[in-house]
Amino acid sequence: MTDKLLFTPGPLTTSETVKKAMVRDLGSRDYEFIQAVKEIRELLLKTAGLQEPTNYDAILMQGAGTFGVESVISTVIPKDGHFLVIKNGAYGERIANMANIHNIQTSVISCTENEIPSVELVEQFLKANPTVTHVAIVHCETTTGIFNDIETIGKMLKAYNVTYIVDAMSSFGAVPVDFEKAGIDYLISSSNKCIEGVPGFSFVIANTQNLMKCKGQNRTLSLDLFAQWEGLNANGQFRFTPPIQSMLAFRQALRELEEEGGVLARAERYKNNYQSLMKGMRTLGFKEYLEPEKQGYIITSFLYPENPEFDFTSFYEALNEKGLVIYPGKLSQADCFRIGNIGKLYPKDLESLLKGIEEVIHSKKQLVI
Ligand SMILES: *Cc1c(COP(=O)(O)O)cnc(C)c1O
Repeated sequence: MTDKLLFTPGPLTTSETVKKAMVRDLGSRDYEFIQAVKEIRELLLKTAGLQEPTNYDAILMQGAGTFGVESVISTVIPKDGHFLVIKNGAYGERIANMANIHNIQTSVISCTENEIPSVELVEQFLKANPTVTHVAIVHCETTTGIFNDIETIGKMLKAYNVTYIVDAMSSFGAVPVDFEKAGIDYLISSSNKCIEGVPGFSFVIANTQNLMKCKGQNRTLSLDLFAQWEGLNANGQFRFTPPIQSMLAFRQALRELEEEGGVLARAERYKNNYQSLMKGMRTLGFKEYLEPEKQGYIITSFLYPENPEFDFTSFYEALNEKGLVIYPGKLSQADCFRIGNIGKLYPKDLESLLKGIEEVIHSKKQLVI
């Protein structure tokens, strides 16, 4: 049985060797597992471009990506903190929601889903609201695939002495980021996105000087980022049962990222996927939601064809029968579906997808654009 190809924002298509790395029994206190955790943390820093000695450390957290984001939000903002969320999509909205649940004083700069928040807009807000202590933004807003300018905003933030939190879930490992230049204090991503591992945990790359001040600020027991860090540093172990097999797969995925040539090489492959996709989709008559200069190479939102007969569910199912899995839209303003370029996919796989789409729109009369 061959697996379907996943053109999604994750979980993604992974390599055979990543899948095979999971076929093990291993104890969570075993030295072999502790060694794997150590290697993962070192490789994550390397992937982030942070070589020892560095002010940063990689902390692993059980659960989906959202758990990692919530561990940061619920640990690093003190009771008297003032949190600013810069939002232009569903994932920014989710960060604001979790802050509200934790009763954190939160302000939101709301941009439309096709707008890149400008550095001027953020600076204006900070000038008018000098009480802000923490700022969060999403790097690639997977809602649309837009790339936010985290580096320019981060450089500006340095003058305001705020803690800078970046949700880089769908970009880390495939979009180069300069941590020092951007002044990032906390960057969050997960095992099943651009590193091409399987689901099971998230990770935080944290400025240790900042994190050191966060002891006892946690609002939950299990998502206490400081305690998780302290535990990993004390004995290399997790406080609660870790997703062992997912971590073994992730270690293999990190090694394969290195073999591929690191972040720049992966960026190149995904860009090639993106270009093959765009060329083919435009030829077929599809239009993308974002203007090309705002569009990243991770995932693309396509508008539903103007033909009122177009039905996404039958389109999705017909492709699925061909072993090609696309993704529904998540936009509040427009009817879209999404196609991801990430995972163990090559331009030839995008060609297979395009061939499948062409067959579907020509075989089903109601789908013809
Ligand atoms: C995928 C994603 C998340 C959430 O990840 P889950 O693993 O589904 O919790 C958060 N932010 C962004 C930008 C994402 O792409």
